[in-house]
Amino acid sequence: MRRGRLLLLSESERVITAMHEVSLMEEAVRVAVEAARESGGSRILKLRLRIGTMSGVVPEAMRFAFDVICRNTMAAGAALEIETVPATSWCAVCEREFPQADFLNECPTCHNLSGELRRGRELEIAAVEVS
Ligand SMILES: [Zn+2]
Repeated sequence: MRRGRLLLLSESERVITAMHEVSLMEEAVRVAVEAARESGGSRILKLRLRIGTMSGVVPEAMRFAFDVICRNTMAAGAALEIETVPATSWCAVCEREFPQADFLNECPTCHNLSGELRRGRELEIAAVEVS
């Protein structure tokens, strides 16, 4: 069997997925700074985000983007807390929630496939702590 060559990508070529998180984090910091200013705060001490496991966002990439984006803003040096929300679906047959294991929303009890995703798509600011 013929084997292909593995290409070694440079740091700047690999950031395709990270870019998504960078723009999301830029928006989160922008909103937090605006809210902090409106409340009369002078510094952001902590930003807490709520990220669902089905949001398509990589928390580590968000962390990486955070420090860079906060530089030269009132959020410089702020702590970032990420609250992970596990994917949870609802089975209308069993009338109960179940943890979603994959993209097939299958109820582990009755194997109904039409489970409805109730939690796990969250991508929101949970809290902004200012001083
Ligand atoms: Zn069920």
